[in-house]
Amino acid sequence: MFKQFDKLFGIDLGTSNTVIFEKGKGIVLNEPSVVAFDQHTGELLAAGSEAQAMIGRAPAHVDITYPLIHGVIANFDKTSSMLNHFIKKIQGRPSFLRSSQIYITVPCGITNVQKRAIEETIVHRGAKKAIAIEEPIAAALGAGLMLDEPIGHLVLDIGGGTCQVAVLSLGGIVASHTINRGGLSIDRDIMDYVKRQYNMEIGERTAELIKIQIGTAIRSTEERSIEIRGRDLVLGLPRSIRLVSSEIFTVVNEFLDALIEAIRATLELCPPELAGDVMEQGILLCGGGALLEGIDERIRADTGVAVHIAEHPLECTALGTGLMLGVYRSKSKPLMQENSREEQIAVSQ
Ligand code: ADP
Ligand code: MG
Repeated sequence: MFKQFDKLFGIDLGTSNTVIFEKGKGIVLNEPSVVAFDQHTGELLAAGSEAQAMIGRAPAHVDITYPLIHGVIANFDKTSSMLNHFIKKIQGRPSFLRSSQIYITVPCGITNVQKRAIEETIVHRGAKKAIAIEEPIAAALGAGLMLDEPIGHLVLDIGGGTCQVAVLSLGGIVASHTINRGGLSIDRDIMDYVKRQYNMEIGERTAELIKIQIGTAIRSTEERSIEIRGRDLVLGLPRSIRLVSSEIFTVVNEFLDALIEAIRATLELCPPELAGDVMEQGILLCGGGALLEGIDERIRADTGVAVHIAEHPLECTALGTGLMLGVYRSKSKPLMQENSREEQIAVSQ
């Protein structure tokens, strides 16, 4: 087992957000997965919310990127720099990785070779050990499901770049389906809609704000509205308009249909006994998209299966890595829980 002096970190490395859990402390960092580099010097200027605040406002020589695309690391160097920066921030000193064990999440469905590549990158950076954990497993554990039983559970993780649907049983993934659409694609659909309908250009952050404030997955009787600013495409001047929630419902609708289709496709892939369990247990919804108004109601209406939203949809994956920290996974007993979920939640608060 691990020596006492090892630092244990569980990292939920998401397309939109990185959440870090430190054993004994709980969640110690929750920042957007964004980095800003100076293109002339190659120097890291900012990471996380500081870099996100620069989006759409930075001079041309500043390159701002999300180093993950659709849940997968698109740029290993930038991802490493970002993680380094984050852990330096937590620790208040460099060379954080030394004598640490890192459990890091990866999307379900990636190959073993891709998993090893991620683990090796982290070890290469100085960590003593790195273990890649599939996101739906971590999310389910963090949301309080007992996974070591022979009972099927369906987890739906709606993240920034992907939606992952996975049926889990006995600690492993039995069937899964991923679509490369998520919160970010909803934001882009909103930008396109505003451009088409109002001849106005808005930024990504404004589109996300619209989604969070007035977005809805159901035809709601109560109409909400938001005033937003952008640039008139004809006049080239700033202008403001008021959008209402029923407009955003129309924009989000097509994405939701694709999501329901992914749930159907996953249930079709899994053995009938497990599909029966899912009918009984319901669907566990997590990831930031679980916070979209009415999404649980919509999925329930379209699939006929009960839906439960995780208590902490944005943090449950990191909480799940926290539960697994210091626990090796063996083939015969896939998930051995060392710490109770209550203990971990307690330290994270
Ligand atoms: P990832 O795991 O890919 O990093 P997260 O689970 O952190 O993604 O979720 C991020 C996504 O959730 C973003 O696209 C964000 O806009 C979206 N999100 C956050 N809060 C809300 C909300 N209240 N309503 C709808 N979407 C939300
Ligand atoms: Mg995620």
